[in-house]
Amino acid sequence: MKAVIALTCGYSSEEGRYYVREAYVRCIEAAGGIPLVVPPLQDEGVLQELLRSVDGVLLPGGLDIDPIHFGEEPMEGLGRIEPHWDRLELLAARFALAADLPILGICRGVQVLNVAAGGSLYQDISSQTKGQRVQHSQKAPRWYATHGIKIEPSSLLEEMLGTQTARVNSHHHQAVKTPAPGFKVTATSADGIIECIESENHRFACGVQWHPELMVEYYPEQMEIFRRFVRCAEEMK
Ligand code: MN
Repeated sequence: MKAVIALTCGYSSEEGRYYVREAYVRCIEAAGGIPLVVPPLQDEGVLQELLRSVDGVLLPGGLDIDPIHFGEEPMEGLGRIEPHWDRLELLAARFALAADLPILGICRGVQVLNVAAGGSLYQDISSQTKGQRVQHSQKAPRWYATHGIKIEPSSLLEEMLGTQTARVNSHHHQAVKTPAPGFKVTATSADGIIECIESENHRFACGVQWHPELMVEYYPEQMEIFRRFVRCAEEMK
């Protein structure tokens, strides 16, 4: 039996449109899962019912997260936010954590996962950190691995990528500031920005700050993140 993976989709209230990048769908499918695209629904009870029928949750990349969810006022460097998108993904993340459903967060997704579990974010890295910074909003092609990361030995990420140093792409101006209780930092960039967090209490609750779905064609080892995630979801069957 294949695992059904809830893939939350983006939302533009201005355009009245839901959207999701095909690369996420492709990676779930290539890893042996069945992607199920989930939009923000009006009724939280219906959303919960839908989530009860899936085996894993993938939170994709996207816009900024409303800082009200980690108790801060919006700073000048905060980008566009979509309240209904936040509500959908915070609910999905909290549902997955409570049910110990495998959950993978990518870019915005790692930030949502961290906030859902009680952590905080940099609303805007460049205005909130000092000193020489790595370029986290790369101008290189989207798939290209522009900056290095150091990976914690004996972490899930080390197991998946089979290395303690890697290079990743980078398309973010927000980042995890304080990791949520129960989560450990398992990768950082040279400027100390958190690039991966993992739960110590769940079978698979992991978030990466880069975009493996855009890298897999040129860096096939990144596919193992999706494979491991989908395999864990299959075990929920
Ligand atoms: Mn980065």
